[in-house]
Amino acid sequence: MYVIFEGVDTSGKSTQVSLFAKRHPHVHATKEPGGTPTGSKLREMLLGGELKGSFNAELFLFLADRAFHYDTVVKPLRHEKIVMSDRGFLSGIAYACANHSDIDGTFLLQMNRLALEEDYPEKMVLFVSNEHLIKERLGMKEHDAIEERGVSYLLQIQDIMRRVAKTLPIKVLEVDAAQDIETLYRQIEEFLND
Ligand code: C5P
Repeated sequence: MYVIFEGVDTSGKSTQVSLFAKRHPHVHATKEPGGTPTGSKLREMLLGGELKGSFNAELFLFLADRAFHYDTVVKPLRHEKIVMSDRGFLSGIAYACANHSDIDGTFLLQMNRLALEEDYPEKMVLFVSNEHLIKERLGMKEHDAIEERGVSYLLQIQDIMRRVAKTLPIKVLEVDAAQDIETLYRQIEEFLND
């Protein structure tokens, strides 16, 4: 099974993926971008801003990472393990839409489907955060103009994720990111066993 964990930064995806990998021998934990040694180099280039200034070049590099990760990690393992990925194509769509508002969403979905060889994940866990929680976890003070923009950017991405997730032929579990770690773990475990 291929499961993606989605949500904005600080929503707690990585904590849950690590916990599942530690407790479940059948879980193979991975991530995007950077779920392969080559992908780590791509991640460094992407997050280091090396392609800043060319939205298309960044988009293609994210897609290259996704396609390579799918071909070399997800596809060979998804029928024998639970491949659990910290982010996947939904992040690819949501961040690209937020960073480039006039991009064609249908085309973006098609390109992501191409990267995944038309194979969707079976399940998705979508962490839903809120303004207060994001600020708290980023260590933010209230009313700082720059930090405010950061929070609203993340909330915009979260809205896109929730909207797109509703249109997909994938089983989606929305979880409240504010819950404690063990409660979240149990909810997700139940969803995966279902
Ligand atoms: O959660 P993770 O540490 O992997 O995310 C790092 C950053 O990569 C995010 O804060 C986000 O800005 C960016 N990102 C992106 N597009 C993606 C995935 C991640 O812009 N598809």
